[in-house]
Amino acid sequence: MRIGILGNGQLARMLALAGRPLGLDFAFYSPNPDGCANVLGEHVCGGFHDIECLGRFVDSVDIVTFENENISQFTLDAIPAERISPPAVSILTAQDRLTEKQYLEKLGIAVPEYCVIGCEQELLDALHDNREPLIVKTRYQGYDGRGQARIHTVEDVQTAWLELGNNDLIAEAMVKFNREVSVIAVRSHGGEVRFYPVTENHHHHGILIASVVRRNDPLQAKAEDYTRRLMEDLDYVGVLGLEFFDYNGELLANEFAPRVHNSGHWSIDGAVCSQFENHLRAICDLPLGDTSALAPCAMCNIIGEYPALPDILKLSGAHYHHYQKQPRPGRKTGHITVCAHDDEAVSKMVSRIMKMFGQG
Ligand code: AMP
Repeated sequence: MRIGILGNGQLARMLALAGRPLGLDFAFYSPNPDGCANVLGEHVCGGFHDIECLGRFVDSVDIVTFENENISQFTLDAIPAERISPPAVSILTAQDRLTEKQYLEKLGIAVPEYCVIGCEQELLDALHDNREPLIVKTRYQGYDGRGQARIHTVEDVQTAWLELGNNDLIAEAMVKFNREVSVIAVRSHGGEVRFYPVTENHHHHGILIASVVRRNDPLQAKAEDYTRRLMEDLDYVGVLGLEFFDYNGELLANEFAPRVHNSGHWSIDGAVCSQFENHLRAICDLPLGDTSALAPCAMCNIIGEYPALPDILKLSGAHYHHYQKQPRPGRKTGHITVCAHDDEAVSKMVSRIMKMFGQG
């Protein structure tokens, strides 16, 4: 089977790395000539609004999937519904923070308090009406902490408006969460859903730096219930990641990703079947793989410059995943998975790696 992926970044690359052993072939559609997935299949260089070129790409593959939810309705309309998986509705819902929140609320999934911001005065009013500070976010295109600003004071409102005022915005109450957690799940054509164990996620300047697998987390069942509701309502096929704030044992959904997710990268070395392989199994209508963790494990992102390979490989239980991307500050260029005999040993390895990156 030939899988067509919209995008040629690291998620496309890891999907292809998981799919090649299954005998799957890959083609990547992207205007970027240098995507790090290109070495693993055919790269078709085309714009997302070049409908003719996209049409030829769609016709040349058995199924289309994607690595990024920022795909416009115009582009999605050019792909027949039965040829794309997960479904287009999941992309359109997740790419706008407002529709995403409304959808989650409709399903009875709690989200942080939020409001739509149309002008600077509304942001000032929201600051006055809320006892907590705010986070203002662009509705579209925000990722890794970009397109958002924290608002504590009237001066912050002015700065944020200058920076973000040209965009459609929402403002959220800043949640004093105990932890950030996420769950990754996979759903088959037949409606079977399997869940990976919850991970606890750590961020630095809005960018994920580490995910630690929590086997037997007390919030696993609740996270699964919410994720199942979402996947069933979307008639979803493939892997999806749902991020939450754990606020005193209550789960508030932050956002969902209708694709393989950074907090699931540990599963490449730490699970019986990785999120990447399971995504491919689901969209190709193959039996789903076992989502159990093989051992206590975690994942640390490499952000910017690469560490020296020997420094990582000398850590027993560490696996290095280099994305072959040009390092830039704030850019995810690889990750390291760590597995050990107990949770404490995993924590120690994560702290050690974080210290190496100056994030400890
Ligand atoms: P996001 O792009 O929405 O995932 O936000 C990036 C990071 O900002 C999150 O992982 C949190 O650490 C933080 N953040 C976002 N929204 C909120 C919120 N409403 N309350 C507290 N922290 C938040």
